[in-house]
Amino acid sequence: MGEPVAFRCVSCGREYEPWSVDYTCPRCGPRAGTLEVIYDYKSLGRRLTPASFAETRRPSLWRYEELLPTGVEHAVSLRAGWTPTYACRTLAAELGLSALWVKDDSLNPTASYKDRATAVAVAAARKLGREACSCASTGNAATSLAGFCASAGIPCHIFVPKDAPKPKVAQLIAFGALVFAVDGTYDQAFDLCSEASARFGWYNRSAAINPMNVEGKKTGALELWEQLEGKIPDYVLVPVGDGSVISGIAKGFSELVWLGLAERTPKVYGVQASGAAAIAHAFQRHLRGDPILPADEPAETLADSIKVGKPRDVVKAVRYVAATGGGFVTVEDEEILAAGQALPRRIGVFAEPAAAAAYAGLLSLLRSGVIPEGATAAVFITGSGLKDPEGVLRGLPGPTVIPPELQAVERALSQ
Ligand SMILES: [Zn+2]
Repeated sequence: MGEPVAFRCVSCGREYEPWSVDYTCPRCGPRAGTLEVIYDYKSLGRRLTPASFAETRRPSLWRYEELLPTGVEHAVSLRAGWTPTYACRTLAAELGLSALWVKDDSLNPTASYKDRATAVAVAAARKLGREACSCASTGNAATSLAGFCASAGIPCHIFVPKDAPKPKVAQLIAFGALVFAVDGTYDQAFDLCSEASARFGWYNRSAAINPMNVEGKKTGALELWEQLEGKIPDYVLVPVGDGSVISGIAKGFSELVWLGLAERTPKVYGVQASGAAAIAHAFQRHLRGDPILPADEPAETLADSIKVGKPRDVVKAVRYVAATGGGFVTVEDEEILAAGQALPRRIGVFAEPAAAAAYAGLLSLLRSGVIPEGATAAVFITGSGLKDPEGVLRGLPGPTVIPPELQAVERALSQ
């Protein structure tokens, strides 16, 4: 298994003995003091190769066990990761790209990218002997934790905004979680979950504050690299709410460079809804040399998974993305809706609105010329359209109702 050498504060750089702190740097606090898990890359780089990952024969993120803070012996049986990467040749040609890949993470056990983080966080809870877990979430992280806790046989306490999409709440109830539907925003649910977890001793998997999340989320980048046989796309597009997924993906590519397995990272671009763009704005401040925090704004978008006003992983997201030479782009809700309806028709992947935002971001960056003709790009699809079908299909006509007669089919076809 992997052996972290330190948990390091992303703001003050102070290093903590691995596992001596659960969440964030006590000196910098929960917002600025998120922790990064550090490994001995020099020594790992001497023994890790594409063949060494393949030799594990594990069709899950545990093929990267050496780069994870916990070993596979603590993992539950649900399989997270090793999702397919699709080459979209026709669409790439139409868009003027020389290649376009889609990493379909809707195929994780609870149908979102969040399963990668949860797989590692729940393994950490088991390693640490914690008897219950908790999570605040716009929906996907919660359903993910509920599923993995069910698999682990440990209680799960969930805090979601009361307007979370019904299919996500259905998953929570099906997995047997204790669900608190908070009459407030995601940001309020987040703070309440932190207080309750401290009070009742639950292991808190909420975004950003738990350093295990980014470790799980980085595996999407490692897989893309392995599935593309070592090719690194020029651009990678990721939808951004709390900033944790993009931090993970950027860290994964950076680690490949530190290990000597890749020569460069892609330019990683975060895509936010224009009505919920706290990290995009923080990135602009960072470029001007101004402070990243407080990054606390109102949030409004139809893409519920990225409807975040007070992102918790904003410091990492801004710094890690800057380190790849990438940036952020914002898209209107109409563009997200159009992307969500175009993607399944063009490539057969049904994405939830937040995930479709990544594709909308690609189109926007192509239009503005930031992504030049002939470039290669990869889009991360981070959640299934089945999570929020009403959100995706808004404005589309329903099916044609006909009597059970062949003539009716002929009539309908002729119209
Ligand atoms: Zn600190």
